[in-house]
Amino acid sequence: MTKTCSRPDCEQANPQPFEEFGRSKTGKFGLMSMCRSCNRKKAAAWAVANPERVKTQNRQYYQNNKETFRIETAIYRATHKEEIKVKKLKWADENKEYLVEKKKQWYQDNKEEKKAYEAEYRTKNRGKHRADRKKYKLAKRNAVPTWLTKEQLEQIQHYYDAAQWATTILEELIVVDHIVPLQGKNVRGLHVPWNLQLLTEEENCRKGNKL
Ligand SMILES: [Zn+2]
Repeated sequence: MTKTCSRPDCEQANPQPFEEFGRSKTGKFGLMSMCRSCNRKKAAAWAVANPERVKTQNRQYYQNNKETFRIETAIYRATHKEEIKVKKLKWADENKEYLVEKKKQWYQDNKEEKKAYEAEYRTKNRGKHRADRKKYKLAKRNAVPTWLTKEQLEQIQHYYDAAQWATTILEELIVVDHIVPLQGKNVRGLHVPWNLQLLTEEENCRKGNKL
């Protein structure tokens, strides 16, 4: 059995088999007038045109099913830790451009808030903040050997790029850490690729400048 989609601009070959139409109590043959493909397109176009309503709907759906989600997610996360991390990193690597765009968009959306927060922080901690930054910058400058090659300088940049996209995808602040700290108590590390590693902010805080 076949049926023709009601949309004049339908891109499927019409008529189409019944399976290509969703069910509808009121429609002819108990089927919807638009084919599944057109329905999907229509829904996608609506979502693009109504981002706020999509957000509201998603929130509503989440609210209604929160408990179920919470339990299922917790169980899944607890039993698939490594797998999740590998999958996320692989996905992030394959979607770098998308993530950069998303990050830019996020920054745009939160610019004012971020500025206000930073301004407040600076006012509260003005002296300390300046001194810390200056000291860190100087330490970093002094720690970059003049003999580093262009490739090695690029490798350093890669660590910072990687930290950025890992932060986005893992939804956890990932920082570039100096394995041997630049301002350690007893030793002074270098700002070179082999002295860098990615850590979560939490791991980094725990580590401190102990060496
Ligand atoms: Zn169609």
